[in-house]
Amino acid sequence: MNILGVRNLSRHYGGLAAVNDVFLDVAHGEVRAIIGPNGAGKTTLVGMISGRITPSNGQIEFHDKDITRTSSWSRVLLGIVYTFQVPSIYRALTCYENVALAAQRKHVSEKVVSAAVKKSLMRVGLANDLQRLAGVLPHGHQRLLEVAMALALSPQLLILDEPTQGLAPSEIAAFCELVRDVSRSATVLLIEHNLKVVMQLASRITVMDQGSILTEGTPLEIEQHPAVRRVYLGH
Ligand code: ATP
Repeated sequence: MNILGVRNLSRHYGGLAAVNDVFLDVAHGEVRAIIGPNGAGKTTLVGMISGRITPSNGQIEFHDKDITRTSSWSRVLLGIVYTFQVPSIYRALTCYENVALAAQRKHVSEKVVSAAVKKSLMRVGLANDLQRLAGVLPHGHQRLLEVAMALALSPQLLILDEPTQGLAPSEIAAFCELVRDVSRSATVLLIEHNLKVVMQLASRITVMDQGSILTEGTPLEIEQHPAVRRVYLGH
């Protein structure tokens, strides 16, 4: 069963096709990685899926319902949650307050918000940092805080855009563990440059190049694909 379906999706900027006629099906419960060189169109594609970027053409379906014209805010309520390439936390607020701001978008009751905040911070390993200011956290922990903010919105489809960027190797291992944990309750769409992380986590990989999908397959298939080796790995 597919949670996400993308049909004929394009986004043009003047004469440039940032995303060009893309078809994509993501099955419920998958960890789907999207890889490709800089400028391939990955961020534009997930921007359209999350509703931040308006498509020039095409359709997006979530649980077989057309959401192409649904606002990004309504998509969050449906369960499509996107974390940004750049940590988008409030540095002068505590971890608790940051996650509460996210949780309040979905939940009204203070009790439910509080429970969601604590549970989300516990899942990412920041349970002891509730009252710490987000701005003083190490960079890797700020990224975890951002994931906690996303988890507090109870995502069905969690879109992570380059989540391991700037993380130390020890933090990357913990992050992979977290994504595995999240994938037990949500489908994950992961844009990631670190191929080791991709190969470890993804059930399937979609390779983009110049706005189009070059190929798609299991990690093993992608690793052995000659065009992928040439275009993406450079050999
Ligand atoms: P990266 O890995 O560097 O993040 P990407 O695969 O996410 O790259 P996009 O950011 O989606 O690629 O960009 C795809 C193409 O569209 C690039 O050529 C980019 O310069 C162009 N582009 C993206 N956003 C805009 C915009 N708002 N206006 C004009 N061109 C844009």
